[in-house]
Amino acid sequence: MSSLVAPPTAGVPARPVAAKPAHRPYRVRVAAVTPLSPSFVRLTFAGDDLADFGADGLDQRIKVVLPLPGTGFDTFPGGDWWSAWRALPDHQRNPFRTYTARAVRPAEREVDVDFVVHADGGPAAAWLATVAAGDEAMLVGPDATSGVRGSGVEWAPGSARTVMIAGDETAAPAICSIVEQLPADARGCVFVEVPGEADVLPLAAPAGVSVHWLPRVDAHAGHGERLQRAVRDWTARYVTAWHRGVDVTDVDVDHDLLWDVPQGEPGRGAALEGDLYAWLAGEAAAIKSLRRFLVSEVGVDRRQVAFMGYWRLGRSEM
Ligand SMILES: Cc1cc2nc3c(=O)[nH]c(=O)nc-3n(C[C@H](O)[C@H](O)[C@H](O)COP(=O)(O)OP(=O)(O)OC[C@H]3O[C@@H](n4cnc5c(N)ncnc54)[C@H](O)[C@@H]3O)c2cc1C
Repeated sequence: MSSLVAPPTAGVPARPVAAKPAHRPYRVRVAAVTPLSPSFVRLTFAGDDLADFGADGLDQRIKVVLPLPGTGFDTFPGGDWWSAWRALPDHQRNPFRTYTARAVRPAEREVDVDFVVHADGGPAAAWLATVAAGDEAMLVGPDATSGVRGSGVEWAPGSARTVMIAGDETAAPAICSIVEQLPADARGCVFVEVPGEADVLPLAAPAGVSVHWLPRVDAHAGHGERLQRAVRDWTARYVTAWHRGVDVTDVDVDHDLLWDVPQGEPGRGAALEGDLYAWLAGEAAAIKSLRRFLVSEVGVDRRQVAFMGYWRLGRSEM
């Protein structure tokens, strides 16, 4: 009789095995601090754990956790860290900031992150000013053993035939990484606004992709102004060329400043659908305005525009 009595779990589906989190903390040390230019410093992080660090490349975002005075990283939770971190009292909660994994070398157990040096005094900037080789550090990044690929990667051009990539110095690491992974037959244009002439970084691009570094040579020019101008100019020529059936890569973006869009063409998103993929990242207000321009004024399909505010002028993150 007892064998016919349903056990208490009858009818309850077997509990799924908890999936491994896609991201996890990695305790590492700073292996090298390498100045790349007046505004960029590369930190190379090393640690045995990094053998498992996901190497999806492109604009892979990660977190850099910053040490607390006195306790360093002792209170930072492991594993599925996010809810545990949020439950901690303020004084035990390490600040962290979002960065791009510029290079991941699992075999060497190393990760490079390129930091922008800025003077506005956030916790990451303050840490960067004093960090030295040998210091303990902590990253939260993709776990290749989780089985999840591409989490934290936003670059998704689909079948678009032309790419337009634009960003400021905080997006330069992501842009360099994306451009290095473009297929050889990619075509389009890349704009990177940087603080000064000496911040132009070496970057090899496919033949059909022109790269334009835009130093803020005019000290009075606002953040993002050069980027706005360059994107607007290029887009005007792109739209014109597209409507005329001209290969847009033949258009010289440094000359012929014109806005020669046939009447009524801008605003017709479907007209450009599928052809252009735009990836925009940097200071939030500048990126918002570029996105509005592309989608509302030009008529690029909103699904073809990835836009990411990487930081906010005058506002600390979290
Ligand atoms: C997905 C993603 C990827 C990113 N990748 C990188 C990367 O690879 N390299 C990188 O350097 N940054 C990157 N950033 C930007 C970085 O997270 C921010 O710049 C961050 O705010 C820096 O933290 P902080 O503690 O120095 O300053 P916060 O505490 O956030 O801010 C303090 C003050 O500094 C100002 N500020 C913040 N950043 C800058 C800046 N770059 N220039 C001038 N003023 C600034 C703020 O407006 C504020 O007034 C990325 C952001 C995202 C979302």
